[in-house]
Amino acid sequence: MIAPGSWLGLLGGGQLGRMFCMAAQSMGYKVAVLDPGAASPAGTVADRHIRAEYLDEQGLATLAVLVSAATTEFENVPAASLEYLGNRARVTPSAASVAIAQDRIREKQFLAAGGFNVAPFAILASEADARAPAPALLPGIVKSARLGYDGKGQIRVKTAADVPRAFAQMGQACVLEQFVALVREVSVLVARNDSGQAITWPVAENRHRHGILDVSIVPARIAPRLAEHCRSIALAVAEALDYRGVLCVEMFVLDDDRLLVNELAPRPHNSGHYSIDACVTSQFEQQVRVLAQLPLGSTDQHEPAVMVNLLGDIWYDGVTRREPDWSLVLEHPRAKLHLYGKAEPRHGRKMGHVTCLGPTPGEAIDLARAIKKRLGIPSEGEL
Ligand code: AMP
Repeated sequence: MIAPGSWLGLLGGGQLGRMFCMAAQSMGYKVAVLDPGAASPAGTVADRHIRAEYLDEQGLATLAVLVSAATTEFENVPAASLEYLGNRARVTPSAASVAIAQDRIREKQFLAAGGFNVAPFAILASEADARAPAPALLPGIVKSARLGYDGKGQIRVKTAADVPRAFAQMGQACVLEQFVALVREVSVLVARNDSGQAITWPVAENRHRHGILDVSIVPARIAPRLAEHCRSIALAVAEALDYRGVLCVEMFVLDDDRLLVNELAPRPHNSGHYSIDACVTSQFEQQVRVLAQLPLGSTDQHEPAVMVNLLGDIWYDGVTRREPDWSLVLEHPRAKLHLYGKAEPRHGRKMGHVTCLGPTPGEAIDLARAIKKRLGIPSEGEL
């Protein structure tokens, strides 16, 4: 066990890293963040900010000497950085797990080979592949192999003629995936430790707007048996990866209750932010626990919750920038406001979130609806 008082290291300076820092510090650890940004959300709360590029050997060496163990908050961190650190300090998740999750082609191949259901797909490695797409995959979505997030790196294609254009626009290897008739999107967070013990949180139901997570409703509004199935898939994926740390498994629910695994995130996830306020152990505390080889904490949920994302859009009234009126949130005693300390609000940028708690799921949803309305956050359909 790595005792409190020790240093933990983190690659990446975003909000996931900030919440990791806070969880680690509240358990008595010191945190060093390696991130190139001057004033990143995690860098500003860390005990030490090593300002360097992820592949900067001197920065990585400084981190490796200082910390007892390191993790990442950012799946696009170069696997080579994790490998370098992994040769000098304890690193979870492993570079091998992150390398799979950060490459959509490897991720799909890994899932398909493991017998997990995924949307029908083909790999577009060359222009020739793009010129001859399987008709069964259309209409579909061309997704870039690397650096896709929040719906970025995706182009919808209707006909075979659209595919070479989309492929050329991406300028890299892609996956062509059949557009499936999903009825719901869900995600399951799972934590797994070195001895292979694993635990899931309740299933989250995720609603997106313009490809960005808008709200997560937890527990998801699905039958208990289906929820159990989701949790068992997440556990199986974590085991197949021999994963260490917190992993998010995103899935699609089809109308016959079939489940397709869509994506893996080798880190805490936006859909798990509710766990800070609504669960015995948050996803960030659990990340600390696995990293420091402490026992896993309970993932039991105290109360139904709805997480509402706060994007930079609500800082703008037309073109005028102004701070949102936070009293619209704070006057609700069961709404918990989290802001990530980002100086520059931009459209579509994740600036914070609100966790809406309720004694019943219906009341948590009603509170989320009311807060969205008061802050002027549009919804895609009814919650
Ligand atoms: P992803 O980056 O793969 O999570 O995709 C972003 C969003 O696009 C998902 O959350 C879905 O809403 C939608 N999407 C992605 N893949 C498919 C698919 N094969 N069929 C239908 N919708 C999809």
